[in-house]
Amino acid sequence: MNDTVALITGAARGIGLATAALLHAEGRRVVILDRDAEELAVAAATLPRALAITCDVSIPQQVAQAVAEVEQTFGRLDILVNNAGVADFGPLAETDFARWRRVMETNLDGVFLMSQACLALLSAQGGSIVNIASISGLRASTLRVAYGTSKAAVIHLTKQQAAELGEVGIRANCVCPGPVDTKLALAVHSPEIRAAYHEAIPLNRYGSEQEIAHVICFLASDRASYVTGQVVASDGGFEATGVGLPALRD
Ligand code: NAD
Repeated sequence: MNDTVALITGAARGIGLATAALLHAEGRRVVILDRDAEELAVAAATLPRALAITCDVSIPQQVAQAVAEVEQTFGRLDILVNNAGVADFGPLAETDFARWRRVMETNLDGVFLMSQACLALLSAQGGSIVNIASISGLRASTLRVAYGTSKAAVIHLTKQQAAELGEVGIRANCVCPGPVDTKLALAVHSPEIRAAYHEAIPLNRYGSEQEIAHVICFLASDRASYVTGQVVASDGGFEATGVGLPALRD
């Protein structure tokens, strides 16, 4: 795998950094991309062979520049992990258009823009895209009008990509994480939400960044060479269960 190149967005911390570390440990060349330059520099220091690029995935010119830098540096791209995301939990009535756009521009526009910009590089030798959605895109719930809708759109965008890009040798799959203790979750998960998640998740705990990263790396790799257009929840069983499980457990 030494000559293969993987680009991970939102890789300065959290699930993105764990994924970059795993792909790096597999011997791949890794591009870590994030808009937070300071945190990205700290992450880069832990991954000696990585190329770090400061870029906001919602800004087309920055995306084009970043992909051009990957092409100049490595001349190829095999894996794109669209992981950059923001969370914002709020009631529909209080979600003004600016708030809605702030979520959509990273979570949805960013996936569209990055994937489109990487198409030529990925199709040159065949490649794979892994988009990171959420269980909030699989099931609707209160306070997630923007976040949940953006993630449901990422699930569908993945299927669109798989439908169209198979013939140019690009696979596209989607991972829906359940709750993971990252900065993103800590900002929006109140103690009440944390307790409710434990109740609703058969494995009765949050997942780790590494547990999500392993699923992403599998789908990204040739081990999943006949898998495309799929949505895999790495969520401790949350998606599989319905009404009544906590009561049955008690
Ligand atoms: P995190 O906040 O720890 O990391 C996200 C990273 O993305 C940050 O470094 C941030 O600077 C970067 N980022 C945000 N917007 C960006 C932009 N426009 N351009 C470039 N970089 C940007 O979050 P995380 O928990 O590791 O989340 C990673 C992904 O997993 C997100 O898409 C998130 O929605 C999804 N997810 C997380 C959870 C969870 O519980 N943590 C659950 C389900 C889905």
